[in-house]
Amino acid sequence: MQLYKTQTLKVYNSLTGKKEVFEPLNEGHVGMYVCGPTVYSNVHLGNCRTFMSFDMVFRYLKHLGFKVRYVRNITDAGHLENDAEDGEDKIAKKARLEQLEPMEVVQRYTLDFHSILQKFNFLPPSIEPTATGHIIEQIEIIKDILDKGFAYETNGSVYFDVNTFNKSHSYGKLSGRKLEDMIANTRALAAQDEKKNPQDFALWKKAEPQHIMRWPSPWGDGFPGWHLECTAMSTKYLGETFDIHGGGMDLKFPHHECEIAQAEASYGHSPVKYWLHANMLTLNGKKMAKSTGNNILPNEIFSGENSILSKAFTPSAVRFFMMQAHYTSILDLSNDALLASEKGYNKLMEAIENLGKLTPTEAPTTFDIASWKQRCYDALNDDFNTPILIATLFEAVKYINQVKEGTAALEQKDKEPLQLAMEQFAFDILGLENQQATQNNSEALSGTVELLIQLRNEARANKDFATSDKIRDQLTALGIQLKDGKEGTTFSIS
Ligand SMILES: [Zn+2]
Repeated sequence: MQLYKTQTLKVYNSLTGKKEVFEPLNEGHVGMYVCGPTVYSNVHLGNCRTFMSFDMVFRYLKHLGFKVRYVRNITDAGHLENDAEDGEDKIAKKARLEQLEPMEVVQRYTLDFHSILQKFNFLPPSIEPTATGHIIEQIEIIKDILDKGFAYETNGSVYFDVNTFNKSHSYGKLSGRKLEDMIANTRALAAQDEKKNPQDFALWKKAEPQHIMRWPSPWGDGFPGWHLECTAMSTKYLGETFDIHGGGMDLKFPHHECEIAQAEASYGHSPVKYWLHANMLTLNGKKMAKSTGNNILPNEIFSGENSILSKAFTPSAVRFFMMQAHYTSILDLSNDALLASEKGYNKLMEAIENLGKLTPTEAPTTFDIASWKQRCYDALNDDFNTPILIATLFEAVKYINQVKEGTAALEQKDKEPLQLAMEQFAFDILGLENQQATQNNSEALSGTVELLIQLRNEARANKDFATSDKIRDQLTALGIQLKDGKEGTTFSIS
């Protein structure tokens, strides 16, 4: 029987402001959409936190036995500077500054994004569609919204008519804003503005002659508005209504609000059952921003090449640090916080390693594994509360250390279930990897090869060439090449 039938998961729905029991639209299946990165620069560490939160959600839903279709897009067109309506396209601007073809910019930073996520041990989403791959679908939705009277065309651009929409629907319900307040707080439109109302947003923008990213449409050459791609891609792969829509808190308004408006205008109903928003990451108590220098890239943390941290940290230690906070809380990254997390991470990994090596006791087990395991699930079922899960895992860490010291008992029959549970929570759900062990293993491997090189040198000194050749050939067969040079013998592993 699937675990989801016995575990009651509750999620905090930003749309209702309540924790709700999670019941997918189709039993056993979950459709989840998360707004992906705009690939015009190296992926921001704060975005990594958002994507990591949803990677954990994806992992837990799968663990519960749901069949999950997880769609996370790549924004490769249409996202304008400052999220504004009349700025330059972020990718086109980077292409102009670096004298690259826009798709070269997209390729470069998509590769960077994937390589960082791989280091953090993310599971790949089920589908990773791109905005430029779905221009036709976006045009179809615009035609539909125009037909239904919720948009208007001006001078080759098409805008969503927020005022008309708000008469029969409620614009602002996700972010808790009222259209009247928004209108009162914005400046009046300039005379040359194409929009009827400052709140109206672009569904399609006319491309000026110098604009390189352009596609033909019924309204002339142009490009789609940023909000539209998510409506087009989520509908295409998950349907007009799906279970979970995730993203960073900063996307609630206007991006997600506009997605709701577009879907309601086109399909006549709400697109998403549960809206989940991950909170931001600050650095030393302040907002991270390239312009102020209060910024750090993931690779700078892994290599230690930065002026903010005292040493390098492994991706898994950083992942552990992020999982120690609830995804809806603000998390502050600092040298002290990372050092403390690294200690905790090492302790957890050591306990899992030690557990495997423990000799079971004759005396009956002194730890209630079943109730502990359920408390781990309770933590995750409470809106993916990873800090409580980690605290609960540490109850087992304490117990494992006691067994090791001989002050607690663990029978043979309980050892494997405890091991399995620890590994499932730490590795499968939190997505940690034992990078400590990898490091130890590679040290052990180079030590072993050095020893064999020494034995080979001794054999050669004794003119025992049969032995020395055997060592070299068998190492070669294992993919380890020895190279004899003036300074002695070195090796490389292929
Ligand atoms: Zn989006």
